[in-house]
Amino acid sequence: MIIVLKPGIGKKEEAAVLKEIRRLGYQPHVMRGVARTVIGAIGDERTHKSLETLASWAQVESVMPIQKRYKLVSREAHVKGSTIDVRGNVIGGKKVQVMAGPCSVESETQLMTTAHAVKKAGATILRGGAFKPRTSPYEFQGLGEKGLKLLAKARQETGLAIITELLSEQQADLVAEFADILQIGTRNAHNFQLLIAAARTGKPVLLKRGLSMKIEEWLLAGEYILANENPNLMFCERGVRTFETFTRNMLDLSAIPIIKKESHCPIVIDPSQGSGRADLVAAMCKGAVAMGADGLLIEVHPNPAEAWSDGAQQVTLEAFATLMEELKPFIAAAGRE
Ligand code: PEP
Ligand code: MN
Repeated sequence: MIIVLKPGIGKKEEAAVLKEIRRLGYQPHVMRGVARTVIGAIGDERTHKSLETLASWAQVESVMPIQKRYKLVSREAHVKGSTIDVRGNVIGGKKVQVMAGPCSVESETQLMTTAHAVKKAGATILRGGAFKPRTSPYEFQGLGEKGLKLLAKARQETGLAIITELLSEQQADLVAEFADILQIGTRNAHNFQLLIAAARTGKPVLLKRGLSMKIEEWLLAGEYILANENPNLMFCERGVRTFETFTRNMLDLSAIPIIKKESHCPIVIDPSQGSGRADLVAAMCKGAVAMGADGLLIEVHPNPAEAWSDGAQQVTLEAFATLMEELKPFIAAAGRE
């Protein structure tokens, strides 16, 4: 159930509503907007008493039953789009935030060179995997904690915020100590215990879409973050697996208007995993920006031919700088900055 309070309601009247919600066996989640407060009441409507009586309370504007299975991530819960502030970079606001960097952190030189170059070209957030989810156990698994320390050093040198992947519940506190945004990868999008652990660190979470995840399942996975008291969730479309072989994954740009319609959480596009081809990245970015993406997550490497992971899809420093220039008219046409 969603309970919308009337504008200008005081703390006391709000507390009375929260008390009643709890008395009836629901868990209230308060979302304070600029104009009004909305309360999401979590509980099984089939086994709990109805909250509809609250509609007659003086301080309540409306009570809406929710047929959809996702509640806190839904637009109904928060009509205005949510914004996430990451070290002063607002995701979901007017500016299209570009997160760029290597697939994997490989060495200090590789990371610092990339960090300085992407910053110069206009990126605001540095990506880089320290713990890598690899299909084969014989492939490079990431530098681990050493990689996290290099990311922190790059942040200190450049001022870029850091996004890096969290692979395991056991490492949630460690990764959160270094990261500004926790990335949940496609392979873990259904790992609900990991989602809960990520949410509980309090860090913003970027949730990739699972390889064969339906949008409803993706929204419900996102619901785990908000239901665990972390409002800072962004979705990231990174392509789904299909019959097609020209691309590594099929980037589903329809996810942008769908997520915008269904959810208040920002949507980021990853054209690198989303195509698997460096030569397609620029076109995918232009499409994504034109369709209303709030951010881009782009793999950039000083020498993609020698990358320790995902070499075929990483763009060079020069290609990235060109891409950022080419994106400008698309960003302006979309009414963004
Ligand atoms: C990555 O960003 O390098 C990555 C492993 O992403 P995904 O989980 O989308 O495959
Ligand atoms: Mn990668």
